[in-house]
Amino acid sequence: MLQAPPCVLSIAGSDPTGGAGVQQDLQVFALHGVHGMAVPTALTVQSTDRVHKVLPAFPNVVGEQLVALLTDVRPRVVKVGMLATDDVLLRVADLLERFAAPRVVDPVLKASSGPWLLERRAWGNLVDRIVAGAEVVTPNLDEAEWLTGERDPERAAPIFLEMGASAVLVKGGHAEGPADDLLLTRTGATWLRASRRVSEGAHGTGCALSAAIAAQLALGVSLESAVAQAKQFVEDALGGAFKVGRGAPLLRLRAPQFFTRST
Ligand code: PLP
Repeated sequence: MLQAPPCVLSIAGSDPTGGAGVQQDLQVFALHGVHGMAVPTALTVQSTDRVHKVLPAFPNVVGEQLVALLTDVRPRVVKVGMLATDDVLLRVADLLERFAAPRVVDPVLKASSGPWLLERRAWGNLVDRIVAGAEVVTPNLDEAEWLTGERDPERAAPIFLEMGASAVLVKGGHAEGPADDLLLTRTGATWLRASRRVSEGAHGTGCALSAAIAAQLALGVSLESAVAQAKQFVEDALGGAFKVGRGAPLLRLRAPQFFTRST
């Protein structure tokens, strides 16, 4: 029997377009050569132009899936994305405490097309139970402002560390200026510069970035390199973004360089 690749678990919403959510996370994991697993927190009724409806999963079913999976398989890294409701979030938080694994948290609050993807009353528990203890949190500017009250990345970032995360990547992709991201760890801050891409309206960039960071960490890469490589992976995918429907372009995900070089 060959040695198993590292396992990475996504706990996130389902996006039938394949452009975000667990469907996209599994594609990202496969392209990085890690074994992807997924527990959906919600179904969405969705087309490429918008999220029509969010149908949260039954919290006890999310819980049962996690117990069955985590008593059998130990993921190297867990990626947490859309959690939909407070009840789902609390069940996930309980089980992440029971089965500890490093976690990458994409604090998904709202879809670019408008609908909320986490109910408002859950935001406090998102901070106290999911962000606290995270290896890295990846808010965009809106999420950083909603969770910290600060829109300036240099003021928002330290607040995520005070909340108990080991590191934070504040993504500038929705800013007016260049899409620079600020990475703050307990050892210091680094600005990751980016050239703005034409297809910025692409769907699923946040999901892809956090999934790629999780995959890189599972491969044993340091956080700084994992973030830099994941950012390159998303920029590359944005460069090849394509339209399959009426709405937002989807990312053209391609295996990162290290993976294509070694095959
Ligand atoms: N649907 C699901 C299941 C998601 O997890 C997300 C984002 O995290 C979205 C939709 C929204 O994606 P975007 O805001 O990139 O269009």
